[in-house]
Formats: sequence, structure tokens, C-alpha cells
Amino acid sequence: MTSFKEFADACETIEGIASSLEMTTVVSSLLRRISESGDPDTELAIVSRFIMGRVFPDWSDFELGVGPSLLYDAISRASGLQVLRIKQLVRETGDVGETAKVALEKGDEASKAQTTFLDFAGAGGTAPEAGQTITIADVFERMNSIAHASGKGSQQTKVKHLQYLFGTTSPVESKYLARIVLEELRIGVGEGIVRDAIAEAFGEDVGAVERAYMLINDLGEVCVTALHHDLDAVAIRIGRPIKLMLAQLGSFNDITTVYAIEWKFDGTRVQIHKDRDHVRIFSRRLEDVTNSLPDIVKLVKSKITANQAILDGEVVAVGDDGKPLAFQEILKRFRRKYDISAMVQKIPLYLNLFDIMYLDRVSLIDEDLYTRRARLEGIVEPHEKFSVAEQVLTDDPAVAHAVYRAALDAGHEGVMLKNPDSVYSPGKRGKNWLKVKPIMETLDLIVVGADWGEGRRANLIGSYLLACYDADTGEFLEIGRVGTGITDEQLSELTELFSQYIISEVGSAIELKPAVVFEIAYEELQKSKHYASGYALRFPRLVRVRFDKTPEDADSVERVERLAGGGRGL
Ligand code: AMP
Repeated sequence: MTSFKEFADACETIEGIASSLEMTTVVSSLLRRISESGDPDTELAIVSRFIMGRVFPDWSDFELGVGPSLLYDAISRASGLQVLRIKQLVRETGDVGETAKVALEKGDEASKAQTTFLDFAGAGGTAPEAGQTITIADVFERMNSIAHASGKGSQQTKVKHLQYLFGTTSPVESKYLARIVLEELRIGVGEGIVRDAIAEAFGEDVGAVERAYMLINDLGEVCVTALHHDLDAVAIRIGRPIKLMLAQLGSFNDITTVYAIEWKFDGTRVQIHKDRDHVRIFSRRLEDVTNSLPDIVKLVKSKITANQAILDGEVVAVGDDGKPLAFQEILKRFRRKYDISAMVQKIPLYLNLFDIMYLDRVSLIDEDLYTRRARLEGIVEPHEKFSVAEQVLTDDPAVAHAVYRAALDAGHEGVMLKNPDSVYSPGKRGKNWLKVKPIMETLDLIVVGADWGEGRRANLIGSYLLACYDADTGEFLEIGRVGTGITDEQLSELTELFSQYIISEVGSAIELKPAVVFEIAYEELQKSKHYASGYALRFPRLVRVRFDKTPEDADSVERVERLAGGGRGL
């Protein structure tokens, strides 16, 4: 059995090191030493997580549920110092770890002794004895009990477990214990170092360790598998989220051969696991969000014909006009813990599926996109709220651009360009998936004119004439018009705002006193003879009114020139 002290000593060593190579060596020798202990499987799994400041595997729903005040309470009880004094120490040291260490060093011996007489029955154990050493597995067991404590009296139980731990650990151990409890170890060891350390400790290939991690999402289990030299056997498991394949920025110039073009939907990613009647849904961060999405669960159960499948897709919240709602609306659905059915009605979700990683006991990640896509299409029954994302196969940038325009017009973000020959690479951001979105650098422009709307909007201003500022001459140089991105509500608010600045009107055209600055997003800046600035905005969209800016604070014609030069051609 390995003592927690051995772990704490390794942390102390690592804290004094800056080089990640050296850190890797310290972690790998710790792992090797533990592999020779009495129960390496249990201890290696725990330590691989503890060393990154995590208690439970990423895929697990367990949480300690211990906030700072509970922790201070426990340190106070174990050290005999008042909670106020603990808080003061936190302020002085800026670190709960140092606080725990100092508190236990300074702690008033008499009051500390008293803690041994406290009732530990609720914490499922006897009082710690002086000089007793605590093992890594003991610490984890206590943390497990803390995570499981629920209902009435659970706070009390948690504090008692923590008090027990702080009562048993030395000051140095308590430093790292306190930090792990808040899941902030702060020694600079992340996933990359643990991955390399596992490979180094057990003579395995880093790539093999990485692959296993991407598939089962738990470095603790990967570490134990590496010890047994069994990494090749690691496979996708239904119910355990795998890391998502990611995209990097691209442009239409990247289309040199056939690409699969799909809309880049403006929603949020989901990974769906279906195992007959059991459906689990994981978020972009691979957290289990099944309970918040009963509508999606139902659709998957009834519209996916396969017995078992792992699917990749994007859910979109749709408004009455069929366009995607703001991201915050989707968040409301994902975060909802109660009254979920009301929310399902209020914010309906639409699911676009675009990939499949597993089908009826067979992993598909090593198949190409053509094959995966065909499998996906074969198991989805169409439904009004549920579909396989449309895909266009083309090597023509103009065709891809047309899809892009259609996606933007529908209120989505742009397009994805996918290499149809590529495998599904979990956790990888590479060239096989490229995202193309509008350039988002905005311009702050002065409103110098406007036009009355038409039809039922004849009494509202429908579009605005924009200008940039020439500081040399003090002139406002026109650059384009904006009428998009303005909601109905904003249309009337803005009409009211601008009524005070109207200088003259000819037909539907209005001349305005330069007073208001708009922040404008656009897709491209083109050279133009039509406007005095020499440039025109393509697809401009109002982001917001910059009430904090005066016309002289608006962007200069020089900045426009710079942006036009630096723009990424489509
Ligand atoms: P970004 O978040 O800007 O890095 O873009 C990648 C994200 O686009 C993915 O994680 C998905 O959530 C989202 N996305 C939307 N539509 C698609 C699609 N058709 N294929 C892949 N990802 C998509």
C-alpha cells in the first residue's frame, strides 16, 4: 500500500520544477513505484487522476460537492483554529493548500487533541490515531464517501470525513489534500504530462496511450491498462463518451480535391449513445446531459433503427421563424434541472446528425467518411425535428460558397469542409475537418444617412448609411449600408433615436447628423468606386450601437484599408 505522503512528496518535488520533461520523469517514477505496491491497479488509477487535481474520471457524474466554506470548516476543526483565522490565512497565502499546511502546523495542540474525541461515527470510522499513516486508497475511499453523501445531514457527514483526513495527514500532505478537495492541484501537471509519464513508466508507445485515452476518456484506467501492456485491446464502449473530433479554421482555397460540404450549424455539439432502450447524451465537454434533453432521447429511441449506435451531431434551438436562437437559449435547455417539460415546449430543439462512430458492436472510427455517412443514413428515420445533415460533395469552391451563403442566410455559422477519405480521429483538431466562418473583426462606423422602409415598414427607418472617419480632413467617408441584424423591436427604437438627428429628407432618403456609431460585422471588404472611402462592405450586419463612442472615435479609413488588405479571400 502506498502512503498518501509519497504522493504529497512527489507533488512537492514537482512544484519546484519548471521543465515539463522533468515533471514527466517524476510522475513516471511515482507510477513505477506504485506499480510495485500491493494493489497497483487501484492505486495507479487514483494517482493518475490525483496528480492532475481530479478525483473522479472525466466521464463520471460523481462530484465531491465541497466548496471553500465546508473545507475551511473541516480545516478549522482539525487544526483547532477558528474559521475566521482560516479565512484570514487564505487571504494571506492566496492558497487553500498553504492555508491547510500552516493551520495544521500552527494549530493549537490542545484543541487539536480535542478533535480526537469527536464523534466520527457519522463519517463511518473511528477517530484517527496519532502517528497513523494514511494511504492513497484511504484518501480516495473517504472522497468517494463524501461524493455519495446526500440528503439531510450530508454536509455534516462531508465535514467529518474531511476532518478525519486532515486529522490524519501531516502538514505537507494536508496542503495537497486541500487542493485536491477543491480540484485545483496547481502543480502544472496536465493530461499531456500524465500521458507521457504512463508511456515512460511502462515502456509503452505514447501514441498508444493517447489513442486509448481518446477512446475511454479516463487516464486512470489507461494507466492500469498500460501496466498490463494491454493498450491495444482498448476499444470504444457504448455508454462511455469518446473524445470528439475537432475542426480547424480553413478557407475555400483549401478545396483542391473533392470535399464534403455541410452547414456549420449554430447550436451545440452532442454525442449520443444508444443501447437499445437506453440513451445517453453527452455535451461538448462530454458531460452527461441526458436528463435535460428528454425530447432528443425520445427521438433517438424511436427514429434510430440500430440497436446500438454512437452518434455525433449538433442540436439547434429554433425560433418561430425557423432560424436558430441565440446560444444562451440552448444553454437554458442544457442547464435546466427542474421543470424540464415546460422548457422542452418553450425552447424546441432540432437535432442534426453528421457522424457515426459505432454501430451494432462494430467501431466505425477507422472507416472513411463516405462509409460512415452511408451507415448513418441507413439507420435514421426522418422526422421534422431530426435529420442527417445535408452534405454536398464537390471540388468546386463556387459550389461550396453557395452552400456557405445558404447556411448564413438560414442564420447558421458557415460551413464545414470535410475530407471524405478521412477516418474519425477522436480528440484531434486537424485538416480533415475545416470550418469556414465569416471574418468576425468588426468595424465601428458612423451613421450618416438612412432610408425609410417599405410597405408596412414605411414609417420605420429600414437601412442605414455608414461611414468611416478621416482624421486628417475631419470628413466622414461613406462605406456601405446596413439593414440586416436589426430586430423589429430595434427598428422602432432606432427610428425614435435617429428622429432627432434628421437634417433633411428627399423621397425615402434621409440625411442624418453624424452622431451615432454602429458596430458592424461583415464578410468581406471590397474595393469600390461607389463610396467615398473607396471600399464597400459585403454582407454587413449590425452587432450593436456603440453609445460609448463619439463619431470621432469611429474607425479610420486607414484601419479599413488595413483590414481590406489583410482579409482572407474566399
Ligand atoms: P468551433 O466550435 O468554431 O471550433 O467549430 C466546431 C464546432 O462546429 C463543432 O464542435 C460542432 O459543435 C459545430 N458544428 C456545427 N455543424 C457541424 C457539422 N456539420 N460538422 C461538424 N461540426 C459541426
